[in-house]
Amino acid sequence: MADLLELRNVSKVYSRGVLQKSSTTALSDVSLTLAENEPTIMTVAGESGSGKTTLAMLLLGFIEPTKGQIFYKGQDISKLSGGDRIAFRREVQAVFQDPFAVFNPFYTVDHLLSVPIERFKLAKSKREARAKMDDALTAVGLRPEDTLGRFPHQLSGGQRQRINVARALLLKPRLLIADEPVSMVDASLRANILETLRNLQRNHGVSIIYITHDLTTAFHIAKSIIVLYRGQVMEAGDVDAVIKAPQHPYTRLLIDSIPWPDLNRRWGESELKARESESSETNTGCRFSSRCPYVMDVCQQQPPLFQIAERQAASCYLHASHPIIEAERLSELLPV
Ligand code: SF4
Repeated sequence: MADLLELRNVSKVYSRGVLQKSSTTALSDVSLTLAENEPTIMTVAGESGSGKTTLAMLLLGFIEPTKGQIFYKGQDISKLSGGDRIAFRREVQAVFQDPFAVFNPFYTVDHLLSVPIERFKLAKSKREARAKMDDALTAVGLRPEDTLGRFPHQLSGGQRQRINVARALLLKPRLLIADEPVSMVDASLRANILETLRNLQRNHGVSIIYITHDLTTAFHIAKSIIVLYRGQVMEAGDVDAVIKAPQHPYTRLLIDSIPWPDLNRRWGESELKARESESSETNTGCRFSSRCPYVMDVCQQQPPLFQIAERQAASCYLHASHPIIEAERLSELLPV
């Protein structure tokens, strides 16, 4: 059986200028797979400029890779047409960062939920449409009687984001791309939304690619993690292993910048400090070399991924004594 999703050596380069003389590699040689019958939550983490949002746009088919291919259920998504394209549009849904952006202030929640029902002909009658709305709202922990008929300004940010998830759920998605879904929601409501996403995976069989800069939420929600820096995979593996014992200097830096309440560590206890100068960002060799305190001569060459443990790999010459794992085989060490 084909995988639900497969990225095969995907790169995305943005060119600028009339003669396209300058270019930025937003994503470089990323491969990953999600199995069809094993719904999971995979985090893609990194700072702004890491390529996370480019990855989300590629997965949704909004932009095309410069190199490589993306397959959904075995079909190249850039070549989908007719019924296959409609099925892809229905089965692959997104929840974005801003819970306010998708709401028109003049329409009630009913309108927002009825649009996908009509567009994808999900109900034969108004009664059936209402039942589907009720089910979707209940699945995300909202009471339909308190939610339907209300305008956006009558709802909290957390309620709006859960309505966005309910809207995606109406379409019975197989894959949800959640791009920073809790970053604009009050801290008190974040756990609620994350639990809603976890319920989708557990109870509705939805695989989720959770895109974030926030490793604390990644730790609580995901099974596996891929850490990106300037478009390249720095580290990947089991979320527990990577966050509790990060092996790449960049991941250590990310983790050390967060106050952790429960990992037997103190904020800032790591001795690793990034070098201040980022002026000589390089496109050859290790992308992190201009910030890395351990940079060596060999780092002028692009480091491969070294498999450090059964479920952990890092792209760093500090681990050169470990076996190399090809980018295409990265998913083999990610738990589901
Ligand atoms: Fe630092 Fe070199 Fe490792 Fe890159 S490959 S993170 S520059 S030690």
